[in-house]
Amino acid sequence: MRIDIISIFPDFFEGPFSHSILKRAQEKKLVEIHIHDLRPYSTNKQKSVDDYQYGGGSGMVMNIQPIDDCISKLKEEREYDEIIYLTPDSPTLNQNTCNNLSISKNLIMLCGHYKGIDQRIRDQFITMEVSIGDYVLTGGELASAVLTDSIVRLIPGAISDETSALSDSFQDELLSHPIYTRPSDYKGWKVPEVLLSGNPILIEKWREEKAIEKTKNTRPDLLQ
Ligand code: SAM
Repeated sequence: MRIDIISIFPDFFEGPFSHSILKRAQEKKLVEIHIHDLRPYSTNKQKSVDDYQYGGGSGMVMNIQPIDDCISKLKEEREYDEIIYLTPDSPTLNQNTCNNLSISKNLIMLCGHYKGIDQRIRDQFITMEVSIGDYVLTGGELASAVLTDSIVRLIPGAISDETSALSDSFQDELLSHPIYTRPSDYKGWKVPEVLLSGNPILIEKWREEKAIEKTKNTRPDLLQ
């Protein structure tokens, strides 16, 4: 998989992709992540990438020209499965979307800033819009890092035990069951007896019951 991220703050990504699964997935060549600094694409003398909003109102809007040039150049080089704009005014990301995107070959993620991007870019180029939740961030960088992480960990080989990702919350519309590790008794805080029984059928039954109970209490909407 190849992910091209377009941003006016490329340095932001030095941290999020240099650790753990994301780092290993790149080392194993399961994913290539390319960060594109938008500013050099500006043909403007000051290399500015934003301007006032038509119709008035506070907040700047990201210009069409640098984004057009950057996306057009990338599209000349390869075909993209999706050109994604991270934006709060769009459908909220869920595990199903992550599963679908994890089998993509090439993705572009466009990070907005200020009030967002000129609508004409959305009309002309964007094939998918993703919000990471009902709140407003300063920029799309965090959102694209969240989206990248949630997709890359699903690529076969990214997690050493591939079945682990399949038993995480949301994969079967349920939240995860409680989990424990050694010691079985810490200061009298005991691990449920059934998990020490060695009986896989009983353990699976207990996990399913606990997952349903937790989902009912915390996210009943998932069960509908
Ligand atoms: N004016 C926009 C609105 O009201 O919908 C908010 C713009 S926000 C301050 C600036 C940028 O941050 C957006 O263009 C988007 O790229 C990113 N962003 C903010 N919140 C986000 C969210 N919940 N999900 C995805 N991206 C978000």
